[in-house]
This record gives sequence, C-alpha cells and structure tokens, in this order.
Amino acid sequence: MERVKQSFKHMVSTRETMILELQLKRFTNGWLWVEASGKPVFDERGNLLHFVIVSRDITERKMYEKRLEHLAFHDSLTGLPNRRMFRDRFRQALEEADRHGRKMAVMYMDIDKFKSINDTLGHEVGDELLRQFAHRVQACLRPYDTLARQGGDEFTILLPEITAQEDAVSIAKRILAAIQEPWEISGQVFHTTSSVGVAFYPMDGSTRHELLRHADEALYDAKKDGRNTIKAYAMRGHQSSNG
Ligand code: GH3
Ligand code: MG
Repeated sequence: MERVKQSFKHMVSTRETMILELQLKRFTNGWLWVEASGKPVFDERGNLLHFVIVSRDITERKMYEKRLEHLAFHDSLTGLPNRRMFRDRFRQALEEADRHGRKMAVMYMDIDKFKSINDTLGHEVGDELLRQFAHRVQACLRPYDTLARQGGDEFTILLPEITAQEDAVSIAKRILAAIQEPWEISGQVFHTTSSVGVAFYPMDGSTRHELLRHADEALYDAKKDGRNTIKAYAMRGHQSSNG
C-alpha cells in the first residue's frame, strides 16, 4: 500500500510517531479495520533500528461511522437517496451540464390519492407501497439517474444526460406505465397512479432552486389536470401528455 510506504518514509525522516487507519483482509472472509500507531526507533548514531507498531481493532467503530454516513444521506424507509444527497448530486450535475453544454431534466413525482391507501389498507401497507414504488421507478431509470425521496409520497428524479426533452418525457411515461401495474401487498391487490412535473435545464431555469420549484409547479398543474399525468413546466395550461 502506497500510503503505508509513505508513512514509513515520513516516520524515518521526521522521527515522529504516526497513527494510521487501515483496512486489512482477514484470513477468513471479510475485512478488519485497525488503527496502527507506528514509532521509529533509532540507535545513538541515528541509524534506524526498527519500528514499534501497536494496532487495535476499530472495525466496530468504522461500521458505526459508515452506518451514520448512510443514514445521513439515505431515506430510512426506502433506502433511496434523501433530499440531502439529491441536493449534492443535483449541484454536481448542474456544474457538469454547464461545463459541457448539456441538457438535463428534473422531475417531481407524487403518488395520487396516497392518503386513501393509508386510510383503507393501513399505514403498514402504505409503507410497503412506498418501498415497492421506489423499486419500480428505479427500474425504469438509467444508472446515472438519481431517484430520491423528498418525504411523504413525494419523489424527485434527476436525469443528467438527456439529448432532447422527449427522452425525459418517454422515461416519465415508462414510469407511469410501470406503477399502474397492480400491487400485491399483504394479500391485497390494488392499483395506484402518480403525477409528474418536469422542468428542463437550461430552458426552465438555471439554478437548482428554480428548476425544482418549476418541476413542483408543473406537478401541481398535473394534479389539477386530473392526476395520472405528466406536465412539463413550459407546457403548463396546455393539454397534458397522458400515459
Ligand atoms: P394527491 O393525489 O393530491 O397527492 O393526494 P394524496 O392523498 O396523495 O395527498 P398527499 O400527497 O398530500 O399526501 C401524502 C400522504 O402521505 C400524507 C401522509 O399521511 C402520508 N405519508 C407521508 N409519509 C408517509 C410514510 O412514511 N408512510 C406512510 N404510510 N404514509 C405516509
Ligand atoms: Mg400524493
């Protein structure tokens, strides 16, 4: 490991003690995290005699830190990226799109009449629907798209690589079709629909806030227009592009 080699060199030249966190492969399967503290020992003429290395197992702490980091950036119910991670990805994607003169789409999606699912089938079924919904939508996307849960029954999607607006619209249509397939949860079979609002970069806005707000306004329009529909921000007030 290059980092370890550099540390040894550094210890010899500075004569300082160093502490390193290392991930080591176990003889049996899995990995082990250790914190290794190294100290070079010299003779009276300054020749390096040996190193004293003391290591301790910090695997548990590392796993805990990883879990905390995962919790900070993911939604605990669906496992999807949360708003915070979405915001980071969005910021990054905007910079990239700006640099390369690329187009981008952002979608705001909200399940239609989700409250009635909770009310008639129970909150547990509602929770499971949110999980399966996330799974189905994800399956309609490309690896570099980001689906995030904003909260409640609201999801956002970032499509960083689209060449034409129709690309995003056809993805949205694919999503609407996928989530109209029946759900089978806890022995109950039922249907849902969803509404989608889309905003395009750079046409509908240049900042994250503006684009999200405009996608949300388009979603509001889709709801007003009878739900189960896709509305583009620029097309508000016009006929919707249904399923
Ligand atoms: P609309 O078609 O206008 O979207 O109607 P709606 O009934 O879906 O209304 P809305 O989107 O405003 O409400 C979302 C509901 O989702 C409100 C809340 O009770 C429920 N909800 C929010 N978070 C959760 C959750 O984590 N689990 C479950 N089961 N329900 C949730
Ligand atoms: Mg809803």
